[in-house]
Amino acid sequence: MELGSLVWFSSRQHPFAVRERHCLDLECDCTDAWLTFTEVELGGQALEEPLTFEIQVNLRSGRERRPPERPAAIEALVREFLIGFPAERFGEMADRRREQRTARRRLSHYTIDPSRRGELNNSPHPPQRRSENVPG
Ligand SMILES: [Zn+2]
Repeated sequence: MELGSLVWFSSRQHPFAVRERHCLDLECDCTDAWLTFTEVELGGQALEEPLTFEIQVNLRSGRERRPPERPAAIEALVREFLIGFPAERFGEMADRRREQRTARRRLSHYTIDPSRRGELNNSPHPPQRRSENVPG
């Protein structure tokens, strides 16, 4: 049913490319991912009216979050995807989510806040002590 980031559906001639976006809000502990499906022609020609849809899925449970109202044809594709998509692939997405959040955390840690620049500026000299406190 799936290969790389392509997914095939029983009712569609063409595969769908899947693009995933993760919640990178470091304050948020959800494990949701947004998956965008876009029908593609592997031969390279653009499809005239490629079908596209997006779902929000909880990577922990493999369940769709807040399914919206949508056409029955799309609903059927979503069901087929959620039933057939291997749990370990959701696990791989969860790993990528973790990596992206780690990278985000690093970025926010190293972002220079001009108002705190002095604290980031490590002086090569130790703080000066008053001479009477220095033994010897
Ligand atoms: Zn979130």
